[in-house]
Amino acid sequence: MPFKSRTVPVKLRIMRALNSRMVLTEKEKKYYFYLEKGYQGELMFDSMTENLHTGYLIINDVCLEMNNSEFQNDTLLISQGTIFLFEIKNFEGDFYYDSNKLYLASGEEVKDPLVQLKRNETLLRQFLRSLDCHFPIESWVVFINPEFTLYEASRDLPIIFPSQINRFLGTLNRTASKLTNRHIKLAEQLVSAHIVDSPYSRTRLPSFDYGQLLKGVLCPNSQCLGFMAPKGNRTLMCMECGYEEKMELGLLRNIEELKLLFPGVKITTNLIFEWCGGVGSKKMVGRVLRENYHVMGKKKYTYYE
Ligand SMILES: [Zn+2]
Repeated sequence: MPFKSRTVPVKLRIMRALNSRMVLTEKEKKYYFYLEKGYQGELMFDSMTENLHTGYLIINDVCLEMNNSEFQNDTLLISQGTIFLFEIKNFEGDFYYDSNKLYLASGEEVKDPLVQLKRNETLLRQFLRSLDCHFPIESWVVFINPEFTLYEASRDLPIIFPSQINRFLGTLNRTASKLTNRHIKLAEQLVSAHIVDSPYSRTRLPSFDYGQLLKGVLCPNSQCLGFMAPKGNRTLMCMECGYEEKMELGLLRNIEELKLLFPGVKITTNLIFEWCGGVGSKKMVGRVLRENYHVMGKKKYTYYE
C-alpha cells in the first residue's frame, strides 16, 4: 500500500467538470484529453509499484515548493539508501530525438521530459537538503504506454521503456531495503509539505463563469460524467450510464465541485439548489448543508463554509 495515494489532480477535476458543463474548443479538449491520459498513465504505474516489498515507501504525486518554484513529483520511492524519482509519461506513437530535442514522428517538437526530470531532481535535492537529508537521488523517466517508440535515443539516458518496467521493478523487489524511523519521518515531511491546490494548478484553464455553465449533478464515473436525474425522492440516476446513487451523495459531490470551480464562493441553499439543477428540494439541500458544513450568519443571510 502506498504511503501516499494519488488523487485526481485539481486541474483535471476542473477540466472534467467543464467538459460536461460547457462547450470546449478543440484546443481546450485536446488539453483535457492530454491531462486525462497523463493521469491514467500514472495510475498504471501505481498499479505496478504496488507490488513492491515493504522496504519501499511509495509517495505518489507530491507537489513541493523550493526557492519559490513548484515542482510536481509523479512518484517517489524511499528506500534504505536511495530516493527514486519517477516522471511518468503516457506518450503514444513514434518519437525521435534530434540534437537533444524530442519530436513527434510528424516533426512537431514536444516538451522533453528529460529536461523536466533534471529540473525536478535539482529542486528535490535542494528540498531534501533543507530537511538535512542527503540521500542520493536516482531519477527516471518512465514511458508507460506499450504503443510508445523512441528513435535515436542513446542508451545512457535515464529512461525506462514499457518493455523494461517489469524488469526494473523486479530488480528493486529483489534488492533488500531496510527502513527506519528516519525514512518514515522523511516520508511524513514530504507528504505534509504537499501543495494540494495552488495558483499553478489553475493555469492554462479555459475561462468560464457561473452563468454559462450547465447546472445539474454529474455522474461520479470519470469515464461517463453525464448528468444525473432524480429517480424517486432519494435517488439519482445517470442519464448516460444508468449509475444510481443516494441523492445526498450527489448533492455533496456537486457542492464540492462548485467550491473547486469557484473558490471562495458564498455557499447558500438557493445557490446550491440552482447549481444542482433543481434536484431534490431546497429542504433537502438545506439539510445536506447543515449536516456537512458550518453554518455562518443568520436567517436569510445564512451561508455555509
Ligand atoms: Zn454515468
